[in-house]
Amino acid sequence: MFSRLVVMEVPSGDPTRTGQPSRAHVNGMARLARTGPRDDADPHIVIVGAGGSRAACPTGDKNGRHLPVMADLVDTVGLRPLIENAGVQSHTDDFEALYNDLATSGKHDNLMADIESIIRDYFQQLRIPDTATVYDYLLLSLRPKDLVATFNWDPLLAQSFRRHEGLISMRKPAFLHGNVAVGFCAEHRTCGWYDDNCRVCSQPFSPSPLLFPVKDKDYTGQPFIRSEWARLRRDLEAAYFVTIFGYSGPITDVAARNALLEVWSRNGAREIAEI
Ligand SMILES: [Zn+2]
Repeated sequence: MFSRLVVMEVPSGDPTRTGQPSRAHVNGMARLARTGPRDDADPHIVIVGAGGSRAACPTGDKNGRHLPVMADLVDTVGLRPLIENAGVQSHTDDFEALYNDLATSGKHDNLMADIESIIRDYFQQLRIPDTATVYDYLLLSLRPKDLVATFNWDPLLAQSFRRHEGLISMRKPAFLHGNVAVGFCAEHRTCGWYDDNCRVCSQPFSPSPLLFPVKDKDYTGQPFIRSEWARLRRDLEAAYFVTIFGYSGPITDVAARNALLEVWSRNGAREIAEI
């Protein structure tokens, strides 16, 4: 059993003599460099996909609504009657392929607008359960220097973050494909939660754009999306831990995968960093 360690700090110029407190020595020995969390320490990045929200609510949200993934989004959100009435017959069980086909055909602008509206309405209604979810555990386990970046449109991560405001001091998550829980003011380049007002003009925020699954997705055209990616890029370049949770890097996210790999290649610690 260890005897109780008695800390006797000594002047830095003479570590053998006890006397005035010193930050450099203890018990006649030089102190080790400080370790532990620092504001400027390498961040831990957590990248979240649709599987993360499904894991947070495996049996549905607070009101029993299911969390869709791309493979079952058509029926979960209720798009099938709309698609069938429009005479679309291919890829009706694969929303990624379906939407990409509609976008590249150039013939279905009205149908695409209706699909986007139904999807936004569905996701806006989702509510995080009153009990702790995996998102709550995740956010409460990270430190202020860390960053969660999500590809999801649903508001569950944002709702979890908001119910812990005051308990955690992390920066708000980065929303890489937009999100129904956030908004922005294009004129003053400000953003916040969807029910906030711009701090400059005091007007309600506009809804965040949602990036839909097309192979040539543009991550730079929308200022809000561009700024969210800039936040992730800056931190990913210095990250030591990268955790990917419920994200498979689907084929319509080829631009996202390339962007992540390009930034990761510049990370000076990647030889020893952990993914
Ligand atoms: Zn404004």
